[in-house]
Amino acid sequence: FASEYDVIIIGAGGAGLSAAVSAKQAGASVVVFEKMAMVGGNTLRATGGINAAGTSFQAKAGITDSPDLFYADTMKGGYEKNDPALVRVLAEKSASSIDWLTKMGADLSDVGRLAGASVNRAHRPTGGAKVGPEIASTLDNEVEKVLGISVYKRTEVTDLIVKNGAVTGVSVTASNGKNYQVNGKAVVLATGGFGANNEMAASLVPSLRGFATTNQPGATGDGIVMAEKIGAALVDMAEIQTHPTYAPDKEMITEAVRGNGAILVNKKGSRFIDELKTRDVVSAAILDQDGKSAYLVFDDSVRKSLKAIEDYVKLGAVIEGATPEALAAAINADPVTLTATLNTYNQAVASKNDSQFGRSDLPRALSTAPYYAIEVLPAVHHTMGGVKIDTETRVISTAGKPIPGFYAAGEVTGGVHGGNRLGGNALADIVTFGRIAGNSAAKGL
Ligand code: ADP
Repeated sequence: FASEYDVIIIGAGGAGLSAAVSAKQAGASVVVFEKMAMVGGNTLRATGGINAAGTSFQAKAGITDSPDLFYADTMKGGYEKNDPALVRVLAEKSASSIDWLTKMGADLSDVGRLAGASVNRAHRPTGGAKVGPEIASTLDNEVEKVLGISVYKRTEVTDLIVKNGAVTGVSVTASNGKNYQVNGKAVVLATGGFGANNEMAASLVPSLRGFATTNQPGATGDGIVMAEKIGAALVDMAEIQTHPTYAPDKEMITEAVRGNGAILVNKKGSRFIDELKTRDVVSAAILDQDGKSAYLVFDDSVRKSLKAIEDYVKLGAVIEGATPEALAAAINADPVTLTATLNTYNQAVASKNDSQFGRSDLPRALSTAPYYAIEVLPAVHHTMGGVKIDTETRVISTAGKPIPGFYAAGEVTGGVHGGNRLGGNALADIVTFGRIAGNSAAKGL
């Protein structure tokens, strides 16, 4: 790589790649450094959708939505701890982010519902392809093939260079193991969160010690550490989201399995919670059970309703039984208890009233053989806190002033999601603020 660029981008996830595109479109020379062997970061693992309000795809499906409603849902979901100015930008610009990605060739034409949204606004490919890989590969194609921007992999940024209070470049360890300094008029931090750094997570929230994670191994919080070292303010660092249904050593099981009708049972075979409660509440309830894990239990009609389940079958995460008793035996639960649990639940479905736990949506009875179970436990999923930014993505110092030449976007930042991130808002965040960061950095805002 060269010794100088207009804009240096650290991290090739959705935020960094979005920033690369917009910086280049604004006329800057751009380079991207990525420490892992591949691009895409955690963005590749995103499955729910990308939230946006007021899109043409919503209009086509007859859905009435507005930035105001998106704003209200996001603030409520984050327990009003979010930075209102950042959420306003997210809500106002989300629809143009969908247009922007669609013009690059992404398919985001299917619109579904995720927890915490008042209307359907989670955009995803039609036909069940995963949304994260769709967005990451579209952006990577635009960056490397269409715009000819170099993305250096296995190249880790180890330090930010500061002169006279301004960020003027980075130190990197390149794929050849050697160290270099690279100068930039502006640096965009897009290194993602720290979900894969259990030491860091547990130092902030001790009860998370030893937790698994749904994140890619590169999500170690490097950017937060580097930014703090040069005087950046951090916000909401102890706000860490766990995903309630992670299949140990396998994959995160999408919320849609519960949404489409699965129940959660403990090791004995009893239900213990309204399965559709928010991620934090369901996670805590699972940890209260014996063995600190639970089983998602469903029948063949749920399996047939959701393509993703076939992936979990291939991964070996799904246990099968021809009858409820056989399934109970296969997971070492009590056959009488599990059978009674299913009977009681099916009566609740029939009467549209779950008097035990108050589950509001009871989509189908669980009565079509064979029966299935997936063992799940909560894992660290998203770190809401991070570097403080303003609405132009300028990094704010502990003294409350923008640090010249320094911008940040994506999970490395804090404030957008407050105390709890809604499904579909991570992708909306990284694309929308990534675009702004590239533009701000290129123009020296
Ligand atoms: P976001 O969703 O905010 O875009 P991702 O996790 O998708 O975050 O992407 C962040 C990317 O940054 C990952 O690919 C990660 O490997 C990379 N990264 C993290 N730390 C460094 C670092 N020190 N140097 C270069 N790349 C890094």
